[in-house]
Amino acid sequence: SPFFAGKHYAVLGLARSGLTAVETLLASGAQIMAWDNREEPRAALADRVELADPVGADLTGLDGIVVSPGIPLNRHPIAEAARQANVPVIGDIELFALSRSNLPAHKVVGITGTNGKSTTTSLVHHVLESAGVPSCMGGNIGLPILGREPLPEGGVYVLELSSYQIDLTYSLDCDVAALLNITPDHLDRYDGFAGYVGSKSRLFVMQGPDHHAVFGVGDDDTAAIAGRQVACHESGRVHFADGRDLLNLQKDWPSLQGPHNLQNAAVAVGIVEALGLTRTQWEPALRTFAGLPHRMERVAEVDGVLFINDSKATNPASTAPALAAFPPNPERRIHWIVGGLPKGEDLDECSRYFGNVAAAYTIGDAGPIFADLLAPHMQVHRSEMMAEAIRMAIAQARPGEVVMLSPACASFDQFRDYEARGNAFRQIVEALTAPGLSNE
Ligand code: ADP
Repeated sequence: SPFFAGKHYAVLGLARSGLTAVETLLASGAQIMAWDNREEPRAALADRVELADPVGADLTGLDGIVVSPGIPLNRHPIAEAARQANVPVIGDIELFALSRSNLPAHKVVGITGTNGKSTTTSLVHHVLESAGVPSCMGGNIGLPILGREPLPEGGVYVLELSSYQIDLTYSLDCDVAALLNITPDHLDRYDGFAGYVGSKSRLFVMQGPDHHAVFGVGDDDTAAIAGRQVACHESGRVHFADGRDLLNLQKDWPSLQGPHNLQNAAVAVGIVEALGLTRTQWEPALRTFAGLPHRMERVAEVDGVLFINDSKATNPASTAPALAAFPPNPERRIHWIVGGLPKGEDLDECSRYFGNVAAAYTIGDAGPIFADLLAPHMQVHRSEMMAEAIRMAIAQARPGEVVMLSPACASFDQFRDYEARGNAFRQIVEALTAPGLSNE
């Protein structure tokens, strides 16, 4: 429909979300100035848009400049040019927010935080689908939300929002907005930690007072934002998801092990309850959540040995919760495959959980350093390639134990990305544990 008729936008950056913005805006009647430094995407649009770099162009009268969240606004010249022309710099989420009145009756959930966004977003989506509520995911996960087939009436759009995306959004009034946690990260994009915290809190500032806010508990910055929202929201609409009432259920959630996942599940439950779901609707769904690939993903259980792919753990801080997920228990000790391209030289963040490890199998560039570092604490098996490490771990692991890839390192020494590394783990495990092979 001609929803954006008479509007005039610039779109800077013609990768996936930029191209979707161009197509959606064109289809709904807007006029477009578009630019990318690469010739190829420009050429593809040449007949349908005005091709000009908005940096240096006359921006007066534009309704907005759509940029990708990849553009660092604190350094990029477009920010100053837009400010001088008094034109808002926005992202595709803002266009989605502006076009909501054009959609069948629906609700929007926005989820942000430093860690656990994707897990919580997929979990909320899964619970809604299990309860028969039409739902789709977007934002930082999956396909761009803009330009998607609208959900039928009563649907819920579940948006994973990075702080960069929030910075480009002004009109998103989430029916339920959630903040999982805040820890220092991405500080290069902000003028210090305060700027990063401020960015996250804007998600709640955009909300109407009769809408719901859900907060994870555990860090002071999240608590401070939550405290401020109590004053701005109608009473009973700010929820603190401490997860205490879920503790005894967690053992039945195969894909949500570990203290960090208790936080994710608690926030997800807070969100779906704010949407009106009952415990009888969410409780069974938590058990059937498949989890996300490469994040503590159960890839196989063979002869009583559980194989876990945690390839997404690319630094020691993200490996720590994986090691913590299996508390000291002689039956459930971890055969830990660790190493790759190191981001630091130590494993200090993991050291509290060394007692959960039966043996380490070091691989990649970091292998020799990690092997020396771990040898005083546990049995260590050195190898270069992952296949060899898996083979040794299978030989050592007893029924009831766990073989886990949680590398605490980037993958680029041996793989294209963490996904390729996780897929390789799965394939090697499947090949080495295929029935019959061991007897041949
Ligand atoms: P994000 O989308 O925010 O990057 P993910 O759900 O993809 O988060 O999880 C990425 C990694 O972060 C996981 O493998 C896990 O190690 C860690 N993690 C997940 N949830 C949390 C949490 N609530 N607190 C701390 N770390 C977490």
